[in-house]
Amino acid sequence: MKRYPDDFFVKLNFKTISIVQNLNVTGRGRLGGTYIYDHNIIFININYMSDDYFIRAFHHEIQHLVDYRYFDRYLIEWTEWQELFEASNKSTHSGFVSDYSRKNPKEDRVEMFGHYMGLERSKNIFIQKAKNDEIFYQKAVLLFTFYKERVDFNLLDDFLLEMNQ
Ligand SMILES: [Zn+2]
Repeated sequence: MKRYPDDFFVKLNFKTISIVQNLNVTGRGRLGGTYIYDHNIIFININYMSDDYFIRAFHHEIQHLVDYRYFDRYLIEWTEWQELFEASNKSTHSGFVSDYSRKNPKEDRVEMFGHYMGLERSKNIFIQKAKNDEIFYQKAVLLFTFYKERVDFNLLDDFLLEMNQ
């Protein structure tokens, strides 16, 4: 949480995180284990999780809230992002940070964000992808630039430094 700017969660209107052991949403168990209710509460299911996964799941859901709060619901029409997502799909490299990223453009960016904010192991996956895959790198720059300009959350400078190491 310390990596977020001071007023980040206030501006986000994020209220509650609920750690649960079984998660059942409208009759279906959620194996992945996270769920957002009413855009204020995040549920995280600890049954299936390592620390690494837990931390990533948290940042993943936070990013969904950012999409919702800041960008006209879920940023459905972000053309540049859409184009890069499709380029990743066509590329012979795997320009995705996880299998779940492939699901749709929205999950792609929240998975990227989740990995970058995650523990060392997850973050290393992100950095290696960015160094080896041009499209992935472009997605990271687009995402972090957006964050810097619109959310007042600067991950871009650190990321660019890490790319030069
Ligand atoms: Zn998601």
